[in-house]
Amino acid sequence: MEYVRSSKVRPPLPEGPFLVVGLARSGIAAARALKAHGQAVFGVDSGEPADLSALRDSGVGFETSVTGVERLDGVSTVVKSPGVPASAEVIVEARRRGIRVLGELEIGWRLLDAPFVAITGTNGKTTTTELTAHLIRSAGRPAAAAGNVGHPVCEVAMAAAGGTDAGTVVCECSSFQLEDSEAFSPEVAALLNVRPDHLDRHGDMESYRDAKLKIFANQDEGDVAVLNRDEPGQAGLETVAAQIGFSTSDGTDATIALDGDRILVDGEPLLDAHEMRILGRHNVANAMAGAACALALGVSSEDVAAGLKTFPPVPHRYEPVAEIEGVLFINDSKATNVDATLAAIESSDRPLHLILGGSAKGEPFDDLVPAVATGCRGVYLIGETADEIGSTLEPAGLEIVRYCEDLEAAVSEAAGAATPGEAVLLSPACASFDQFENYEDRGESFRRFVEALDG
Ligand code: ADP
Repeated sequence: MEYVRSSKVRPPLPEGPFLVVGLARSGIAAARALKAHGQAVFGVDSGEPADLSALRDSGVGFETSVTGVERLDGVSTVVKSPGVPASAEVIVEARRRGIRVLGELEIGWRLLDAPFVAITGTNGKTTTTELTAHLIRSAGRPAAAAGNVGHPVCEVAMAAAGGTDAGTVVCECSSFQLEDSEAFSPEVAALLNVRPDHLDRHGDMESYRDAKLKIFANQDEGDVAVLNRDEPGQAGLETVAAQIGFSTSDGTDATIALDGDRILVDGEPLLDAHEMRILGRHNVANAMAGAACALALGVSSEDVAAGLKTFPPVPHRYEPVAEIEGVLFINDSKATNVDATLAAIESSDRPLHLILGGSAKGEPFDDLVPAVATGCRGVYLIGETADEIGSTLEPAGLEIVRYCEDLEAAVSEAAGAATPGEAVLLSPACASFDQFENYEDRGESFRRFVEALDG
């Protein structure tokens, strides 16, 4: 096993003045961090962001409801928020003028003098990021979970500049953040999986995969790359960094492997998967990836095993919320693509009553058919995609197919049909924006409707 104990020297900040494009949480954090480092910085947003008080308080100038093009004069570096597409007029124009375009991740990483663990993939990022930080902390060392988990890296950098020891930074990196990175070179980097998602923004699978692979691009020999040996795309992947492979398949020679229910490291038992509180085969993969990152940082196997036993399910990610009269209710509202829903169905050993549907992303649902045919007794369809999913699933030949007015009706119908020993699973394979604020709102609603059943 390779050990990474300290952080590499970071390149200096790129040259200012800076224009931050997109003033949501990470854009605001970048603007404030740059200002705190004495840089000239201005912020723009094409909309009207809800909360700009932190930006106002920090004294950074900004303008909203503008393209930002008129603010490019004199700017040396544009900091692009992950939500801003590369096709936005201000980004296209900045590139045309030869202005550097970077993301907030790159800025925060350059400002931080702390070992940096970066985690990416289509599914499992948040779970693995929180889990890795938990493993480091439960070994008695400080760690910050950052990035897409809702705590921008630039916020961690500011706290560190203010004297808070960040310890190790464990960062969830989206493909958008990686795409806008330049010298970014984490001491430990993990790629969980690459499946179709966000193709509306990346165009095709190849550019989406390339964005994810940037996580390894600048690593050097002293760094560690954590790879999923079960992913066809990662089989022969070459990295300059030393590799730690993990696999949940039988009979592999991966460093972290599975023998029945037992997780092995270098052939030695680490712990049995059923000793963990998180459920499902996909979470075994996430646990292996997190364990690899922690081991790479020098956390002992004993501490890793102890930490894996105490890590709680992350809300809205295959999270058991209640068992009522022998029926288990699982909230997997964060399953916003087909792959995440497949992982949930394949993880369940109980016959399922599956609630599916939501807003459309253009992804086909055909891959669900065999898993639904074997794993489900009924499906309950909601939202914009209900009809499309219903007709796609016809070949599965299910006993129960219901079109429901909303989530409340779906919960009630599924609960009515489920018998003891079965489970009701919300794992919609779709985004939530047609009927809910976001996936958290959808998951909380599910929890409320389930609790009401018990009342
Ligand atoms: P991300 O941050 O990448 O979206 P999350 O940890 O939030 O990942 O999980 C998103 C969804 O994907 C949840 O429904 C979760 O149960 C499912 N999931 C988690 N890990 C995996 C995995 N390794 N493979 C497939 N699906 C997964």
